[in-house]
Amino acid sequence: MNKLFFRLLVMLMSLSLIGIILVQVYWFNTSFRNNDEQFKFHVKQVLGNVAQKLEQHELYSFYNKINKKIDSAGVVPKEEDLMEFYYVQKNPKTNQTIVYSNNVKSKQYNISLPSFDKKFDSNKFKSFSSSRLTEVYNNNSIDNSAVNQSLVPDVKSVKVGSLGILDKFIFEISNKDILSAMPLEDRVSNDELDKLIRKELEEYGVKTKFEFGILSNGIVTKIKSDNFVYDKAITYSIPVFTDNEGNEKYKLYVSFPHKKKFLLSQLVSITILSIIFTLIIIIAYTSALNQLIRQRQISEIKNDFINNMTHEFKTPIATINLALDAIRNPKIIEDKDKVFKYLEMIRDENKRMHAQVENVLRISKLEKKELNIIKESSDIEEVINDAIEHVNLILEDREGSISTHFGAIRKIVLLNDVHFTNVIVNILENAIKYTPDIPKIEIYTENIKDMVLIKIKDNGVGMSKVAQKRIFEKFYREHTGDIHNVKGHGLGLAYVKRIVDDHNGQIYVESEKGKGSTFIIKLPLIN
Ligand code: ADP
Repeated sequence: MNKLFFRLLVMLMSLSLIGIILVQVYWFNTSFRNNDEQFKFHVKQVLGNVAQKLEQHELYSFYNKINKKIDSAGVVPKEEDLMEFYYVQKNPKTNQTIVYSNNVKSKQYNISLPSFDKKFDSNKFKSFSSSRLTEVYNNNSIDNSAVNQSLVPDVKSVKVGSLGILDKFIFEISNKDILSAMPLEDRVSNDELDKLIRKELEEYGVKTKFEFGILSNGIVTKIKSDNFVYDKAITYSIPVFTDNEGNEKYKLYVSFPHKKKFLLSQLVSITILSIIFTLIIIIAYTSALNQLIRQRQISEIKNDFINNMTHEFKTPIATINLALDAIRNPKIIEDKDKVFKYLEMIRDENKRMHAQVENVLRISKLEKKELNIIKESSDIEEVINDAIEHVNLILEDREGSISTHFGAIRKIVLLNDVHFTNVIVNILENAIKYTPDIPKIEIYTENIKDMVLIKIKDNGVGMSKVAQKRIFEKFYREHTGDIHNVKGHGLGLAYVKRIVDDHNGQIYVESEKGKGSTFIIKLPLIN
């Protein structure tokens, strides 16, 4: 039940984690698309403005030309000098002819025009006021091509005022007709166009490199930036300089070579933040999961340990019970030799239990850091020889052998005799325990800098890379193959590591599965 719940939890969490990541990816995609749309929208507006301003510009230069002409003449221009329009309308039903004429007069006034070209900013612009005359002839016989002044109109009205919308319109139309006959290079320069587009783009916050070009009926003209090439995905266009008939001969193309980069750059900071947060969640989640799994493993291992211990206590207790029963037997109590044999048995079993208890106590002491180790300078070789003595009996039992190669010249180390002997004994015992064949153990010592190195090499089962990293952990035992058959609690090497650390030394293992292991201890020498 518990296990099922745990699995469900892990599955749900993993699923939602994947969900979060997918949502983020989706969000990024949509934002990118939205930004693209917005970019397109802004650029369209910019292009619209540019096209409009180009035409305005031409109109202003037209006005300006007229002004210049007037100024260069140096005389107050006569009204007729300026311009006169006639607009004649015949109405066949009423047989009426309306003649509309408009005399344009100039008037000087100071304004700064909404122009992109500085040239015009300070110019004194002359506005045109008009004197508008409307005459209505009821007799429809007059020829509109030759408006005769001698005819007397039936109705006549005169209005004087600023230039009317219609007049302006006529102005513009005639202007356009003239201009459309001019070559494109005379109408706009590369520099002007570049400045105009740049300014408009800046106003809309589109701060990325652009290229532009005007195409005439699909053919590139001289009006273009140096690196302009047409690429559909990054190019936007608008007709410019349309003539009075609405012919879209010229089209302005503006392309953004770094468009994608620009769009991405707008998302970069928020994306980095979301990646960081997601990573934090992933790391926190996996480490929490790891911790949980570790905890479960440890509790399993602890259970194993308790089972093992009780089992190991059961045998000696049963043996002792049997021995005691035997002694109480009146036949045996008389036999001194037998009693002595049983007593010996009891003592041995007791010793075993004691050793077991000692082991556990030692570890719990290690855990509480209560170990108070007194160290003296000692010869490392003596300690090793001492430890070999301890394992000699077991070794003989297995018909194994230990050979020593003491290469270290400086070998005096500050250490605790008892504990350090235990360290070597533990390693030697393991070397025997985890060697299914005849154990052949080699011990080397050597000096490296201010250290003495002790290498203990066996011809045993070896261990995996994972095991090499973990054998010094409490309760860790490699659960594979025949090692399962070897008894132990996974405490020996934890103790070894703790003692070596306490001596300011280092311990590690080099091993290959099936080829044996080498335990290496480094200890600092006394100067
Ligand atoms: P125990 O021997 O009681 O299991 P240890 O702490 O002494 O506990 O060892 C931990 C584990 O390290 C062992 O279970 C074994 O898998 C591995 N091990 C230790 N020494 C050797 C060795 N010489 N060769 C192969 N494996 C070893």
